[in-house]
Amino acid sequence: MTRSRADYHDVEVVHTQRLTRHMIRVVLTADSLATFGDDLHTDAYVKITFVKPELGLTPPYDLAELRQRLAPDDMPVRRTYTVRWYDQQKRQLAIDFVVHGDEGVAGPWAVAARPGDRLVVSRPGGAYTPSAEADWHLLAGDEAALPAIAAALEAMPDNAVGDAFIEVDSTEDHQELTHPDGVLVHWLHRDGVHAGTSTVLVDTVTKSPWREGRVQVFVHGERGMVKELRNYLKNVRGLSRDQLSVSGYWAYGRTEDRFQAEKREPIGQIPLD
Ligand SMILES: Cc1cc2nc3c(=O)[nH]c(=O)nc-3n(C[C@H](O)[C@H](O)[C@H](O)COP(=O)(O)OP(=O)(O)OC[C@H]3O[C@@H](n4cnc5c(N)ncnc54)[C@H](O)[C@@H]3O)c2cc1C
Repeated sequence: MTRSRADYHDVEVVHTQRLTRHMIRVVLTADSLATFGDDLHTDAYVKITFVKPELGLTPPYDLAELRQRLAPDDMPVRRTYTVRWYDQQKRQLAIDFVVHGDEGVAGPWAVAARPGDRLVVSRPGGAYTPSAEADWHLLAGDEAALPAIAAALEAMPDNAVGDAFIEVDSTEDHQELTHPDGVLVHWLHRDGVHAGTSTVLVDTVTKSPWREGRVQVFVHGERGMVKELRNYLKNVRGLSRDQLSVSGYWAYGRTEDRFQAEKREPIGQIPLD
């Protein structure tokens, strides 16, 4: 019998693990995760809905109905996160949350998360998987993209070659990554400069030697950085749309609600052509 995939999963925290100074892994479980998804892309992501436990709401949430009776501050909040790994047998998935301070919903929630806490996650989306056809791979991103970059590196064949540039604050944010010997991992440090305002990633990628052959690119992270690298890759390196996976994951000074809303305005758009 084929079971259909649920639209959402009412998940519970199994345990949390502080991976590095600014990253916490939260492992989640639900019986319905047995049918979470086959053949996930390496950048698979979910929309997480956060609700205040004291409101006693049960999913699925009827947002229109809730808007009628809840104060704006009590409304469910949605945030987007990468699926770092999924274990169908155990019906578990892991999400690595950047710890970015007291602001926001998801980051502070992860810091305080305890076994038994509940969340609702959507079915997975995603679009990028490293191609075995590429001559080389170029990956670049900040901490928010580190889970997706780590998953991509793990999925590459042993003979893959390329460069992965990862922007973090300091050596305290380095992770042990599994990657082919031919894919060099370059850790870049902001050294105390606020995330989203450093130029270290753009400066390093644009000055790095360019390899021979057809490249497949993955550039995800803070929107301004992604836009600059997209312009370099299109205008200087002449890459075509089908070689590029470029996506803003967050924007400096914006909540995700505002960041998502701005995708309908020029400031929020990252054209591929
Ligand atoms: C497809 C996709 C996959 C993603 N995967 C991951 C992931 O695996 N792990 C992860 O941590 N994030 C990931 N993100 C980014 C994450 O959705 C945003 O960082 C989100 O804004 C965090 O929500 P929040 O409630 O913590 O903060 P918000 O309420 O959205 O924002 C509050 C403040 O914090 C700032 N802020 C938000 N994110 C960061 C950050 N990373 N560093 C510094 N300041 C920040 C905002 O600019 C704002 O000023 C992903 C985004 C997308 C679109």
